[in-house]
Amino acid sequence: MNVVASFPPDSPSRLLAREVLIGGPLSRGELSRRLGLSVASLTRLSKPLIEAGILQEGNEILEGGVGRPTRPLEVPGGTHRFIGIKLTGDAASGVTTDLRCQTIGTAQEPLVSEAAADVVSAIVSVIDRLDDGNAVDGIGISIGGKVSDDGTVLRAPFLHWRDVPLGRLLHERTGIPVTVENDVVALTVGEQWFGAGRGISNFAVLTVGAGVGYGLVINDRVIAPVDAGLGLVGHYPVDSAGPLCQEGHRGCAGAVLTMAAIRGQFRVATEEECSYEEVLDRARNGDRIASLVVKNAGAALGTLVAAVANLTMVNLVVLSGEGVALADVASEEITAAILEHRDPEAAPVRLAREPTDFGQWARGAAAVAIQRSILGVAR
Ligand SMILES: [Zn+2]
Repeated sequence: MNVVASFPPDSPSRLLAREVLIGGPLSRGELSRRLGLSVASLTRLSKPLIEAGILQEGNEILEGGVGRPTRPLEVPGGTHRFIGIKLTGDAASGVTTDLRCQTIGTAQEPLVSEAAADVVSAIVSVIDRLDDGNAVDGIGISIGGKVSDDGTVLRAPFLHWRDVPLGRLLHERTGIPVTVENDVVALTVGEQWFGAGRGISNFAVLTVGAGVGYGLVINDRVIAPVDAGLGLVGHYPVDSAGPLCQEGHRGCAGAVLTMAAIRGQFRVATEEECSYEEVLDRARNGDRIASLVVKNAGAALGTLVAAVANLTMVNLVVLSGEGVALADVASEEITAAILEHRDPEAAPVRLAREPTDFGQWARGAAAVAIQRSILGVAR
């Protein structure tokens, strides 16, 4: 990625690389239209990127079905290496990806303590285990909490951290460029560049898991103020008859929709301790209490989707997070609640459902590292 590193942030070469990475393969004609550049400029700008293996010429196509065949530009798969790591309160979970954010390898390391030095060591051992002999171009770390632009974790409740310069500490250990980002923001970047939001200017992301997360892309920009890391949507009211959260809100998203909340409601009713997956399974199999809890959570999620779509006017909401299987079990309740809270004249809200596993969070972290190396700046 040394070639790109020599260009100033947001330079035409970087924007060209981004356009091909997100939208490719694209013909030179289409690219010159999108970027407002002449085909001659495009050819000049693409040459060093092709030589550096960031772009390549794809198979010949007939543009518009007529004229001379052209070879579109694309980003080759399998080249370059990025590492994305999702940090939780008890583990560092990592993926290696190529420049297209396709997963090449995964590794996980438990955290022996919450001390910054121990967490950095755990991350370093994940990086070592992901080593496949190729140089790593960038490391992205994703963490639930508030993060500053310079990679300092201002607040991470799961680790009881305040003001930990994680980016600097990790860069000192590895010598590799490091980006640190709030986990939901990173996931949103991953959706925008490489997931269900590719090529879509306005969309939102809702995550269900240990918490309830919300990400937003407006006019192709991820909306990510520092307070994005506070998880503010978690206290949005979704069920006037729901249980209380720790802040005393009745039926807020955090009290109804998190995996712990769903398990907790089932436990209160049955005095049985079940995992989240078991509660969902029982609901699938028609268990009365599990069904009530899960359907109620589905209706709450639908209410939240409708609120997001109504207030931000997006028509696509991407559902993700390790608890997103809720969306499969309670899909009817989600749809019904969305319809209930939307104007019948409004455009339908499209839902995209992403995979459940932790790899998706780690890929988001890798996406931020890729974005930083392509654009020269984050976001
Ligand atoms: Zn609350």
